[in-house]
Amino acid sequence: MTGNYFLIILTAMLSLNIAGDHPTAKKENPIIYPVYDGEDLGVHYTAQKTSFRVWSPAAESVTLRIFNEGHGGEVLDVYQMEKDIKGTWLFELNGDWKNKYYTYQAKIGNKLMLEVPDPYAKAVGVNGDRGMIVDLSETNPPDWENADRPPLKSFADIVLWEIHVRDFSVHPSAGIQHKGKFLAFTEEGTRSPEGQKTGIDHLVELGITHIHLLPVFDFATIDESRLEKNQFNWGYDPKNFNVPEGSYSTDPYDGNVRISEFKQMVQALHKNGIRVIMDVVYNHMFDAGKSSFENLVPGYYFRMRPDGTFSDGSACGNETASEKPMMRKFMLESLKYWVQEYRIDGFRFDLMGLHDIETMNLIRKELHAIDSTIFLYGEGWTAADSPLPEKDRALKSHASRLNGVAVFSDDIRDGIRGPWWDNKGSGFMAGKKDLEESIKFGVVASTMHLQIDYKKVNYSTAPYAANPLQTITYVTCHDNPCLWDKIVNTCIGCSKTDKLDLQKFANAIVLTSQGVPLLHAGEELVRTKFNEHNSYNLPDSINQLVWHNKHLYYDVFDYYRKLIQLRKNHPAFRMPSTQMIQNHLQFFETDKSLLVGFQISGNANGDTWKEIIVFYNADSLDTEVELPEGEWVIVASKYSIEEKGSTVKGFNSLQRGKTTVPKRSILVLVDKESV
Ligand code: CA
Repeated sequence: MTGNYFLIILTAMLSLNIAGDHPTAKKENPIIYPVYDGEDLGVHYTAQKTSFRVWSPAAESVTLRIFNEGHGGEVLDVYQMEKDIKGTWLFELNGDWKNKYYTYQAKIGNKLMLEVPDPYAKAVGVNGDRGMIVDLSETNPPDWENADRPPLKSFADIVLWEIHVRDFSVHPSAGIQHKGKFLAFTEEGTRSPEGQKTGIDHLVELGITHIHLLPVFDFATIDESRLEKNQFNWGYDPKNFNVPEGSYSTDPYDGNVRISEFKQMVQALHKNGIRVIMDVVYNHMFDAGKSSFENLVPGYYFRMRPDGTFSDGSACGNETASEKPMMRKFMLESLKYWVQEYRIDGFRFDLMGLHDIETMNLIRKELHAIDSTIFLYGEGWTAADSPLPEKDRALKSHASRLNGVAVFSDDIRDGIRGPWWDNKGSGFMAGKKDLEESIKFGVVASTMHLQIDYKKVNYSTAPYAANPLQTITYVTCHDNPCLWDKIVNTCIGCSKTDKLDLQKFANAIVLTSQGVPLLHAGEELVRTKFNEHNSYNLPDSINQLVWHNKHLYYDVFDYYRKLIQLRKNHPAFRMPSTQMIQNHLQFFETDKSLLVGFQISGNANGDTWKEIIVFYNADSLDTEVELPEGEWVIVASKYSIEEKGSTVKGFNSLQRGKTTVPKRSILVLVDKESV
């Protein structure tokens, strides 16, 4: 926002007389709403006075109700708010109103709209139906002032680990007390029955730098008053964007508790050197017709079809309109609030393609003005068509216009594992041919490289990332089959050993490629979701991490740990610019299918290793390859990762001329002088 008082045009009908009836676009008869550019929307509490400000420009009146409880009970007081500037309504209550609850109800036309929570509420009661007046300073845990972000030099150094709060701790083998809660992330020293580190200790041992939390803002589909029922949902159904989810707290009734426990989670992760990313879902709301947005300003915050119904680019029933000034302002202020109040370190934007490029660039600019290490990325696609013009969408193909915002690469994802729409569809890892160019495209993180034939890349015909840090490199996430299930479906006739090889191979490609790698939690534990590809509302038995697996598949865990270590120790695998990749990374020309090889030369990005050779052999047979002149030492293979040179017996560590790349695996060699 510029701070100017400017007008916006809402193409809506003037006669809004029925709540739930949505305005029809009618260009000859637009409603012009003033934009409120102040920063005091919501509630502001002091012990002497509480003030309320809400934007409802079409309202004839707005009623404020105060309650003792977050749900049920008698209303304590009813007030008519006073019309104030730029479409806002204001009310001030003298005295101390801490821990009271409140709602708004607008009258628009002759229609009394639904009673709703404040869209700017910072605390709510159970199930998020009423806002709550809290003293935020009282929600800070002890020593909160020392919960600074862990250091981060470059986005190139990031290793993301995507987890659902409940999945992390709910299985008994986690050995964690606060099952399914924010507080689970604060429990240090937890062990599986077999003695393996679990919980936060596991994250430190694995070596990831950022934890990416599936939705943790208040969402609708878990009944917070019936938590004994062990309900599950991913949480892509927003209700209150600025409040933590209640079911993840130990007391969803008292709005202070979830705030405090969320902060304790961030504090513990920061203390252990791990940054925290929130998955944010500003693109739609759970129930638009009943939402606070729609009942305060009908037809404004959501994109509408010409017939007056909600457009549905999210495939969840509605989509918000980031291009409208007050929605854009809402997103900006919400994100800044999470950064400043909760010390969140970055955001993953769900269906970012539904947000407009201008909004995303403004978000990047304003968040980086607070802290330039905040990492932003999103899904560069929509779930269905949208009225937002294609040219304005924050799509993957527009990444070069999204300054400093990264996008998920479905190109390398499906290149490695196979198509998202077909559980049984094979990818490179399981021997599907003609995906080599997609893998190479992933190796250079969707940037421009002369040795890639872009016509042969699976989903893209041109490079889209202006630099490698605009690409999230991954093979699976919460959506679609998890890695093990995909392997089982596509590695036909394979032994268990072959399948476990693929579990290593898939992310060995990810972690030796450029870009910002993302791991789906539990890939290192050979997690299965029993072939359920859309487990958003399925029980814990499908979704939970089973920590017994760490003992059972320790070899896989340790391989992942060492891959991450290899990446951290060797900046050649995380170059920050397209130019640097072009200067240092050359692919080998080969006639063989299912083989990709490249050399990173010249102490790339300051690496201590001068020359690095990487091969990916996706064939079901070992493959012989020609090595360049010189003496080479194997530092990573399917058998081991040893940065000082492999000592695995029966597998020569020093190679001249030709060498063998075992089936379904990577091979990394380094010039002998460097190790
Ligand atoms: Ca909730």
